[in-house]
Amino acid sequence: MGKNFADISFREGVILANLNPNTDSQHRMAVEFLGRDPRTPFTIKTFCPDGTPQVLLADPVFIEDGIWKPFPAFLWLVCPRLKLLVAELEQQGKVREYSQKLKTDEQFRESFMSGQKEIARLRVEMAEKIYPGELPDHIREILSETTVAGSRDFRGVKCLHSHLAQELAFHNNPIGAEVLERIKNCSAGDHCGTLRAERSEA
Ligand SMILES: [Zn+2]
Repeated sequence: MGKNFADISFREGVILANLNPNTDSQHRMAVEFLGRDPRTPFTIKTFCPDGTPQVLLADPVFIEDGIWKPFPAFLWLVCPRLKLLVAELEQQGKVREYSQKLKTDEQFRESFMSGQKEIARLRVEMAEKIYPGELPDHIREILSETTVAGSRDFRGVKCLHSHLAQELAFHNNPIGAEVLERIKNCSAGDHCGTLRAERSEA
């Protein structure tokens, strides 16, 4: 092993260099929208048209106090506008509705499963890039056999945020695609970045 949190800046540099490098101010803004200190390094995968961080892509595994921690729910939706609209859909019972659709609509289910397999492959690939040759089998197994929402139940939807995040980041999640069709992606006129301040004062 020998890797720990002291290596984060190095690893972050490696990961960011492989993806789209974010500036310091973008990174600070992303942490602000996340609303907590992230436990793992991340990069901003997509932005709203007004420059608000929209979806974050985090390392899918980290080591804490010498213990390997898998992190299968590694895509975070942080745009305040989308979070709010998705929460409303969840309140309207859409999680159950999409779970039902996965059961009854074979084409929808196959498309969903194929997207989840791609996500599983990506997670393992990222983890192997971060910890070359070190990934324990049980961690690889968890990263290979969970949904983007971090569930082992591939018929379960769990939460719409992660499915939308996957659709926005990789365009391969039919649940996220339907959510996006309902609430529409952000436009420049939405000023997503200003929503958080207004809401946290309320
Ligand atoms: Zn937005």
